[in-house]
Amino acid sequence: MDFRVPDKTRRLLSDLKDFITNEVYPLEQRFALGPFCEILPELDKLRKRVRQQGWWLPQIPEDHGGMGLGFMDHAMVSEVLGRSPLGHYVFNSQAPDAGNMEVLLEFGENAQREKWLNPLLQGKIRSCFSMTERDRPGSNPVWMETSAVRDGDNYVIKGQKWFTSSADGAAFAIVMAITNPDAEPHRRASQIIVPTETPGFHRVRNISCMGHEGSDWASHSEIRYEDCRVPVSNRIGGEGEGFAIAQARLGPGRIHHCMRWIGIAERAFEIMCRRAVDRELAPGEILGAKQSIQNWIAESRAEIDASRLLVLHAGWKIDAEGAKAARVDISVIKFTVAGMMLKVVDRAIQTLGALGISDDTILSYFYRNERAARIYDGADEVHKSVVARRILRNYQD
Ligand SMILES: Cc1cc2nc3c(=O)[nH]c(=O)nc-3n(C[C@H](O)[C@H](O)[C@H](O)COP(=O)(O)OP(=O)(O)OC[C@H]3O[C@@H](n4cnc5c(N)ncnc54)[C@H](O)[C@@H]3O)c2cc1C
Repeated sequence: MDFRVPDKTRRLLSDLKDFITNEVYPLEQRFALGPFCEILPELDKLRKRVRQQGWWLPQIPEDHGGMGLGFMDHAMVSEVLGRSPLGHYVFNSQAPDAGNMEVLLEFGENAQREKWLNPLLQGKIRSCFSMTERDRPGSNPVWMETSAVRDGDNYVIKGQKWFTSSADGAAFAIVMAITNPDAEPHRRASQIIVPTETPGFHRVRNISCMGHEGSDWASHSEIRYEDCRVPVSNRIGGEGEGFAIAQARLGPGRIHHCMRWIGIAERAFEIMCRRAVDRELAPGEILGAKQSIQNWIAESRAEIDASRLLVLHAGWKIDAEGAKAARVDISVIKFTVAGMMLKVVDRAIQTLGALGISDDTILSYFYRNERAARIYDGADEVHKSVVARRILRNYQD
């Protein structure tokens, strides 16, 4: 087993960390406290520089304009970009667009790629993914109300979705809707592209979360699909293949989410350590001399490193044996890393005292916005249940 990171990757990670620290961090406070559109001109300038450096689309093959990184290299890049809430956006590898790009690359028809994928890759448009419903449990997505009924060469889509992230300003949504109500549960839904300018597409509101409505890319919308009529050719993959496609998207995607959370934990850890040595409780007595702070530092270091090894191992397994073989590993990292990240952010806030609660550091943004990590892409309890059931199978005769 060789844990060394190749020199070329190490140099790339170091360059990216410098770029994120020097160019992206300075925009964070305005991002956290003001409307997204106010920093868009600066973000566009940074995107231009990222392209010039050859860092655009780290997750996409070279022949589609990306960096063509391998799966593991991309995972490590995701950690560095994750240190800032704006990191992935600046490199055009932000959720939910990155997942939609992946789906269109793998399952899209040529015409769909031309019309929707190419402008997405160029950063000219944004998109969203509309699956969760307000009145049905997201944890049981096969029990869904939104329907897409065939009418000649069209689907007519009807339903109420919510928490469609980044719908505000998006050019299209990929909507999960029931097309085959009589099929077995996992074969009932399809993924269909719905341009947001389609008559009947109503963005009802941006849902206020933790006291902020957000805007543009940084928002979560409630959406009513009121007899939205789109051509059948907007369906991605076969009829009834919606869940299979969603599964293909979610498995590897969770590696990148987890690495992003490790980036957040590393950032919080650094802020905590810096404060521990800079803050004096009395003349000559630093905060870091206190045993409780030392415990948090030591425990955080161990937990971040353990989480990274777990994630990289799961990534290696996906690479070597496929996402299906790594199903339990993926569930393990999803709840472990989300919990670790929130614990480290909380310890950092405690270490900073009132400063940690203030918006003078990024910690308060992380505390507000990253709590959701234990809910989206499968709640903790659902993943724990997957793991435990698989383990208990070994004890049943
Ligand atoms: C910030 C954020 C962004 C999101 N972005 C998107 C998006 O872009 N597109 C989209 O379609 N959706 C999105 N979602 C929705 C997300 O996928 C759902 O919130 C998630 O699937 C959980 O569904 P739910 O909220 O309906 O909770 P429910 O399904 O009602 O579950 C509530 C709680 O019940 C418990 N529970 C549920 N099932 C089980 C079980 N089997 N065993 C034990 N306990 C259980 C868990 O504690 C769970 O937290 C987003 C959510 C958040 C918070």
